[in-house]
Amino acid sequence: MKSPQATRRIIETLSRQHPDADTELRYRNAFELLAATILSAQSTDERVNLVTPALFERYPDAQALATARPDELERQIVSTGFFRQKAKALIGMARQIVGEHGGAVPADMEALTRLPGVGRKTANVVLGHALGVPGLAVDRHVLRVSNRIGIAASDDPVKVESQLCKALPDAMWTLASDVLILHGRRICRPKPLCERCSVRRECDYYRSLQRVGRALPGSPRGPDKARATRRTK
Ligand code: SF4
Repeated sequence: MKSPQATRRIIETLSRQHPDADTELRYRNAFELLAATILSAQSTDERVNLVTPALFERYPDAQALATARPDELERQIVSTGFFRQKAKALIGMARQIVGEHGGAVPADMEALTRLPGVGRKTANVVLGHALGVPGLAVDRHVLRVSNRIGIAASDDPVKVESQLCKALPDAMWTLASDVLILHGRRICRPKPLCERCSVRRECDYYRSLQRVGRALPGSPRGPDKARATRRTK
């Protein structure tokens, strides 16, 4: 695995490639981001952003959401998928915030992960973006990109979070998560576009391809192009 200095340099380089890196969920406060992040499971940020304006008008805070009727709430969030489980989680989350935290979202990992529907990833998103507490959320993009580059070495999100957090100063945790997610969505996709990547010279995956002499993914002479050329002969 790479040194902390190299990890930091790579995140800084990626942040220059993606200066707009931030959560794409729309929110105005920690309560809204928490609810939006719960809704984003198995969905897309774009779809969630279509649902939340009306949802937050109807339920502007934890007190209002705690008294929601499940069937009414389900109808409002149906397009985000898994709407029954999500409605149950949202109401349970709101009730616990009202009952145990006076209606305010707790700025604490342990308290957040005790809320229904909230795992470490969701908690880190809310801590880092809405509560001013450094948090490094690890989703499938962070897992894939960090392992390919070699700044993490595990398929366990908790271990990857720990490896990245150890290598980076607290102040970079949220940024690191945001840039790795965006890089995974735009460039280091399952089928990566390496020729457009600003950190390819330091990437273990890219180097391994060079060692075996393969044409690089995303290049005009990449494997898919080569296959297509063979087929047409
Ligand atoms: S060089 Fe390729 S595999 Fe490595 S991080 Fe960039 S896009 Fe991903």
